[in-house]
Amino acid sequence: MTTDANIENRITLPTVPASLSGAVEVAPAAPLPTGALPAGEVVFSARGLTKTYGSGNVLVHALRDVDLDIYRGEFIVLLGASGSGKSTLLNILGGLDVPTSGEVRFGDRVLTEASESELTTYRREHVGFVFQFYNLIPSLTVRENLALVTEIAKDPMPIDEAIDRVGLMPRRDHFPAQLSGGEQQRVAIARAIVKRPAVLLCDEPTGALDYLTGKLVLEVIARINTELGTTAIVITHNAAIAGMADRVIYLGDGRIQKIETNSHKISPSELSW
Ligand code: ADP
Ligand code: MG
Repeated sequence: MTTDANIENRITLPTVPASLSGAVEVAPAAPLPTGALPAGEVVFSARGLTKTYGSGNVLVHALRDVDLDIYRGEFIVLLGASGSGKSTLLNILGGLDVPTSGEVRFGDRVLTEASESELTTYRREHVGFVFQFYNLIPSLTVRENLALVTEIAKDPMPIDEAIDRVGLMPRRDHFPAQLSGGEQQRVAIARAIVKRPAVLLCDEPTGALDYLTGKLVLEVIARINTELGTTAIVITHNAAIAGMADRVIYLGDGRIQKIETNSHKISPSELSW
């Protein structure tokens, strides 16, 4: 249940989006007339987000006029058919891509006015990414894979703390090839959170995993969201995990079809699909 008290608690957690160096600071975006949820701090605010690929008469409309606010500490599940624009939306929020038109703010910073190097800084300091494939360096151990991040992060958590949070302490000196797919994905999650990002963006993190392993990975993401207050947005094809979210956003043909607010959040271990 996402009560106001929960939101209050989350607001006190130390994951304030810090400054996006160099980007222009401006007045907050006009609030969306949604009514439902939440009274917390807005982490992402998107207005009129449009992404079009191609040109002439071969245009692909990946996103069409998307308006969306994401609040601090939320667990968001993004659902939609293949090609509905989920990855495009996540990539734009994460500063990996830019929209054709529209505006995205991260806190009070306008990402859509940021230069490429400012977006690089934004990603490095504030965003943890988890993708379907783990992208670990095969010649480095678990700890060494995380060290690649902590060496350039501003205020990382201890490497062992991140590894412990995903339950892999006994495996910390192993190489990726010595780990199962689910374990490798948990390393990828540890690598994403070790820099204490404000947001954790996961694009089909269980896409390559079997049922039980996928569930375990989702449990880890849910626990990170709860324990660290990290705002999490998770893309999935699997409607059954929607019960884990504070809000479920349904995308279809580049538009938000509906947004559901869960009054009772299911813990990942209660899920069946
Ligand atoms: P989803 O993640 O929901 O499967 P995407 O956001 O990846 O959807 O893609 C939305 C639409 O945009 C699809 O029709 C896809 O083919 C198209 N698209 C995505 N990326 C590109 C690209 N780089 N060039 C051309 N079309 C793209
Ligand atoms: Mg996708």
